[in-house]
Amino acid sequence: MGLVVQKYGGSSVADAEGIKRVAKRIVDAKKNGHQVVVVVSAMGDTTDELIDLAEQVSPIPAGREFDMLLTAGERISMALLAMAIKNLGHEAQSFTGSQAGVITDSVHNKARIIDVTPGRIRTALDEGNIAIVAGFQGVSQDKKDITTLGRGGSDTTAVALAAALDAEVCEIYTDVDGVFTADPRVVKKARKIDWISFEDMLELASSGSKVLLHRCVEYARRYNIPIHVRSSFSGLQGTWVSNEPRGDLKVEQAIISGVAHDTSEAKITVVGVPDKPGEAAAIFRTIADNEINIDMVVQNVSAASTGLTDISFTLPKAEGRKAIDALEKQKGLIGFESLRYDDQIAKISLVGAGMKTNPGVTAGFFQALADAGVNIELISTSEIRISVVTRADEVNEAVRAVHTAFGLDSDSDEAVVYGGTGR
Ligand code: ASP
Ligand code: MG
Repeated sequence: MGLVVQKYGGSSVADAEGIKRVAKRIVDAKKNGHQVVVVVSAMGDTTDELIDLAEQVSPIPAGREFDMLLTAGERISMALLAMAIKNLGHEAQSFTGSQAGVITDSVHNKARIIDVTPGRIRTALDEGNIAIVAGFQGVSQDKKDITTLGRGGSDTTAVALAAALDAEVCEIYTDVDGVFTADPRVVKKARKIDWISFEDMLELASSGSKVLLHRCVEYARRYNIPIHVRSSFSGLQGTWVSNEPRGDLKVEQAIISGVAHDTSEAKITVVGVPDKPGEAAAIFRTIADNEINIDMVVQNVSAASTGLTDISFTLPKAEGRKAIDALEKQKGLIGFESLRYDDQIAKISLVGAGMKTNPGVTAGFFQALADAGVNIELISTSEIRISVVTRADEVNEAVRAVHTAFGLDSDSDEAVVYGGTGR
């Protein structure tokens, strides 16, 4: 039997009981004959609490020291987990990201993994240990400083280690039973997906589904590492994310994989933009120069009488202030009339590779929203996704309406949320 990488999220190791429960699970995998590498997140809401603390000390937490602080969370859980495993009579050793060979670039707070050299992990495994690795952290190649990979980054650590160690599978243990057709916190009748392609999973992740991070799925696809998302609270089979369904899983590609929603974005409307070449370029150059990623863009037809048009775009709420300030500064140069900022929006997306070959999906989506009395403000599409922007206070109802309209509702309320404060 081969090597497995298991990742446990913060809600799975929220307290001593959780750590002991997880330790038993890990020992079971070892007893089944696997070599086991475990990646662990910080306990419960530890990371958020450390961030709160930092903000009390300084309003602008500095990159290097902020990373130094946050990585402490995972150090606590990794050491406790190793102790709990030893207490069950098995050998375990914990390693920081740096010790595990997770090498990153030097962009603090959102570093990218550029190499993994897991020599010490290999040695620990060969000596019969279970290796426990702190998630979410690495060491920068040039300065040898401690870095973090961005919120939720432990998943990426797990997949990166799985790739470097040529693992059979990367198991991601979380507080729900797998990937659902919608957020089970919103849709009680969401169904667990048995298998989903990397392609659809990537699209769900970038549309606001929080169960797996985009970067982690991207990494898994690049190295072709199957991911098994499952709960550490139940013994159930979860969701397999891979190129192809495994032979024993009798599943077909669904037409629609799921409905995702995202309330983390805001909308900026640039009002009264002269309808001439170079205007959009100037607006989005300003945004890009401030390192802000945008999502949807919509330009209206210009009013013939005025020769002016409006351009709206969405961006992370957290970048809203920065974007407005930057555009205001360029107002004279770009030559628009005013800016409108709206952070009471939500994005709802329908995802599924099957929509490429099934007509009527877009019509059905819009009809479901219309029947629910939900107004559409912006629309954008890709080959396998349709997204709309609506009012934020309508999002839950809209998601449920679309979920029902596409026949995704399960007969039972199988979507259980076992833990987590949703913070
Ligand atoms: N502890 C970090 C966070 O809360 C990393 C993780 O959980 O994956 O974002
Ligand atoms: Mg966490």
